[in-house]
Amino acid sequence: KEPTDINALCDEYLRLSYHGLRSKDNGFNAEIKTDFDPSIGKINIVPQDIGRVLLNLFNNAFYAVNKRQEAQGKEHEPSVSVTTNKSGNSVLITVRDNGGGIPESIKEKIFQPFFTTKPTGSGTGLGLSLSYDIVKAHGGEIKVESKEGEGSKFIIQLPVV
Ligand code: ADP
Ligand code: MG
Repeated sequence: KEPTDINALCDEYLRLSYHGLRSKDNGFNAEIKTDFDPSIGKINIVPQDIGRVLLNLFNNAFYAVNKRQEAQGKEHEPSVSVTTNKSGNSVLITVRDNGGGIPESIKEKIFQPFFTTKPTGSGTGLGLSLSYDIVKAHGGEIKVESKEGEGSKFIIQLPVV
């Protein structure tokens, strides 16, 4: 573990994720909102590992808003927002999207290895399971709130050690 600027890490992987999807799909555009708490300072994490968690969550969010736009057309404006804040002895990272949301029937399966609703070749189903393990190994938690048709919100809580 090393002292890491979590805001800079979020910013870096958000760009990477967005540009990754845009390079595959030229027409894709999304509004990106960020609200980073400057008082967080550096926290002790394995930056490559938490970076993978962030990349997974951002990729999922952009995928979801892109899919919803393909289904709904121009009336849907894709939007992904990332906020960080300090709360007691924890740092919270919240990733929101206005994609199609997660049906109640699969909510408890999404963190299982190999669970995916994506077509063959587009998803391994390992992103959230790996993310869960990495966050647990940091002594943190990952939670999801989602409503079908409205979007999803993933919250990562990491202890400040
Ligand atoms: P993959 O992305 O390869 O499918 P993940 O473990 O990252 O694997 O996600 C598992 C499943 O959880 C996805 O296939 C999708 O059904 C659901 N999911 C994850 N994130 C979102 C999201 N932001 N919006 C809607 N569904 C999501
Ligand atoms: Mg994924």
